[in-house]
Amino acid sequence: MSFPYEAPVSQSLFDRASAVTPGGVNSPVRAFRAVGGTPRFMVSGTGPYLTDADGREYVDLVCSWGPMILGHSHPEVIAAVQEAVAHGTSFGTPGAGEVELAEEIVARIEPVEQVRLVSSGTEATMSAIRLARGFTGRPKVIKFAGCYHGHVDALLAAAGSGVATLGLPDTPGVTGAQAGDTIVLPYNDIEAVRAAFAAHPGEIACVITEAAPGNMGVVPPLPGFNQGLKDLCAGNGALYISDEVMTGFRVSKAGWYGIDGVRPDLMTFGKVMGGGFPAAAFGGRADVMAHLAPAGPVYQAGTLSGNPIATAAGVAQLRLLDDAAYEKVDAVSAEVRGLVAAALEREGVAHRVQAAGNMFTVFFTDAEVTDYDGAKAQESFRFTAFFHSMLSQGVYLPPSAFESWFLSTAHDAAAVERIAAALPAAARAAAAATA
Ligand code: PLP
Repeated sequence: MSFPYEAPVSQSLFDRASAVTPGGVNSPVRAFRAVGGTPRFMVSGTGPYLTDADGREYVDLVCSWGPMILGHSHPEVIAAVQEAVAHGTSFGTPGAGEVELAEEIVARIEPVEQVRLVSSGTEATMSAIRLARGFTGRPKVIKFAGCYHGHVDALLAAAGSGVATLGLPDTPGVTGAQAGDTIVLPYNDIEAVRAAFAAHPGEIACVITEAAPGNMGVVPPLPGFNQGLKDLCAGNGALYISDEVMTGFRVSKAGWYGIDGVRPDLMTFGKVMGGGFPAAAFGGRADVMAHLAPAGPVYQAGTLSGNPIATAAGVAQLRLLDDAAYEKVDAVSAEVRGLVAAALEREGVAHRVQAAGNMFTVFFTDAEVTDYDGAKAQESFRFTAFFHSMLSQGVYLPPSAFESWFLSTAHDAAAVERIAAALPAAARAAAAATA
């Protein structure tokens, strides 16, 4: 596929970046490797729009991979950050902001009795796994193929997100010892989980799953799957860890828990709760969290954990996320899903739009996708053509067929109109694409 050379300033920034940074990016999926072409270097964001270094504006359907649920530069979040930053940027002591953010999380998500703040989703899942092992005294962890829990060594086996995008089976640098206690099972296959518990009695510390996976594209749990996990964990003395880094505070006030009501022992959060700053968390049962230092023996720490700017942004964003806000994102998500499906339908392109709340993915296949193998079976070359057509018309999609699309309260009628206007040509490009 050839790409019209349309982004000279981004290209020159990418050339400079590639000289000093591996692959020119600080997180792999930003690099456009799966779709080709030059990644756009963004210089500003307002509401539903991003502007790149060449001065082109895009409707943003990535929203920083989830966090920007109020759109970019929301005035109240910006004001909270400015107020916080005027008082200093990091103290290395406890502060009021982290108490407020923790209280906000505990108030919203009933199974979270206690919470510890960290700086990234990766830290949250890594710490939750360590805590589960420390609490149970057991070594093994069950995860699912296609689920991504950050770049934790033990959890990179058959991972989604950038690992899926780049087609990496596993990651060099992760030793057998680090991954040896990880059991990888097919997603949505409860019998496989039952069998694993039977094969390893008394050895499994926890099952970790994305509450509703978005990192192999959006593949919601089949009815009863999460409850089945919870029951198998409870019946076998293991902890059920629900990773809500992506779904938390995005798909409802209480995340995916607010939708399926299955009560985890531990949960992990990130993205939305930081308001665009590095803030993440893990929390859950008070008796489990009591094992964490300094209350208990399981060590975990962070110089910038509970950073005052990040917590101020997170508190401001969460307080704006009331029922009306979620209704708005849900409605605009449904509208965009309908528009995309109609455009592809008109061109006879096999597709399946799968949603988990307001998160969704357009799979280029007509079969329902219930696991990672199903996601990989799609015609992703059609996504590549679709993506570049949308990009050239000013709509910024995730540069991978294995990611969720994200919307915000700021995606208004004008933004939807721009998306709608771009879709017919993109659907034609997808129809004409060849492998
Ligand atoms: N867990 C899930 C479900 C995620 O989607 C991600 C990131 O996309 C992570 C964990 C890792 O979070 P972070 O990128 O903040 O380390």
